[in-house]
Order: sequence, then C-alpha cells, then structure tokens
Amino acid sequence: MLFVTRWLYRSVAGQEVEEGGLVCAVCGLPMAQGIPQARVFRKTFNDWDRLALPNEPRVCPACAWYFDHQELRFSHWYVTPSEARVLARDDIIPLLFSLLEFSSPSDFYLLLSRTKKKHVALRGRLNAAGCSSLRVNFEEYLVDVDRGFLKLETALIDLRQYHSWDEIESDAYLPFAILRWPSVGDFERTREAVRRWRNTPQYALARYLYSPKLREEGLL
Ligand SMILES: [Zn+2]
Repeated sequence: MLFVTRWLYRSVAGQEVEEGGLVCAVCGLPMAQGIPQARVFRKTFNDWDRLALPNEPRVCPACAWYFDHQELRFSHWYVTPSEARVLARDDIIPLLFSLLEFSSPSDFYLLLSRTKKKHVALRGRLNAAGCSSLRVNFEEYLVDVDRGFLKLETALIDLRQYHSWDEIESDAYLPFAILRWPSVGDFERTREAVRRWRNTPQYALARYLYSPKLREEGLL
C-alpha cells in the first residue's frame, strides 16, 4: 500500500479521500468513490508494474490528483502524514544526517527525482517511525542509507579535491595527482572508502548530492 499520494493530497491540496468499500488501483487504499483508470492515465503511462492493484478499474481522488499535477515530480520531497516539504538538493544530506541521528517520530517517505521524468512517488517505500536506517527513493533506485553512506559522501568530497570523476569511477588515479595528498596513506584510505561503492545506487546518490559546501559549512 502506498500512502504517499494521500499524504501529498492532504498537505499540498488540503483535501482528504473519503473512505469506503472500493479500493484504488494505484495506492491500494480504500475509497468511497473513484475515477475510471482511462480518465487518469495518459497514453504514455508505462509504470503499470508500480500500481498496487492494477486490475482494479478505478483510481482514488488523491492518486488522480497526483497524475493531474505532473509538476509534483519535479521536486524532491519529504512526506509524512501531516507534512509535505520540498527539499533543495543541498538540504538533503543535512536531513539524512539528522534522521540517522535522531530518527523520525512519524512514518515518512523520501522521494528524490533526478531527471524529473519518473513517477518517483509510485516507487515510494515507507520509512517507519523510529527506524535506524533510511530508504530513499532516488529516481528508479531504492537506496538504503546508513552512516556508511555519509562516510562515502565525505570520501567523495575529499577525493574530488585532487581527482576527476573519471579517475574516481575507473579507480585509476593519476600519479601526479596522488602526490598532492598530505600522505599516500590518506589517499589510500579515502580511495578504499569509495572503491567498494562504485556502480551501486548509493554511489549514484552520493554523486548526485555531492557538494563541497557540505564540508566547508561543517555539515559533513
Ligand atoms: Zn489511490
């Protein structure tokens, strides 16, 4: 079951779905009245495998509203039952940090859209209140984030002081650039912290969120 469209509907549109004996094809939640699928999905819609109950003929007012507001997928969202907050890219790492440190008192979704093309909300996986690791929906990926992820982000910022993304991603570093490090040991430790993450969703997210400002402002 997918709660995120209902929570967005509540906080962004200020409306609630009346519960009843029908169920929604998209979120799988109960509703009193629905809208026929054909009036909700565009011809280009191809995320059928993301629907909770694709054989149900109707869609709830919250999910229909979501599909009618394509601009919702242009933003990054932090969504709880009582709040839907748009996140600037630079706010995401500090938020992850604080959620890992203090854990959230309520259930929530984290939806991050890179290309703005995909319905990230339909991939939404719930984070339960008080959980100690985070599930971040980043485009088509579900990324598990823990303290190791923050270490990866820190190591990327350190490596980028001296090396290109090409060097980092191929794990082939230019010898003259290695000599700029305070010591070869520092370089090797930082390289090792990144190497095992290459080609993972965690790496894709860490690169997307990369910002030297995080280090300058003491956030990492
Ligand atoms: Zn629905």
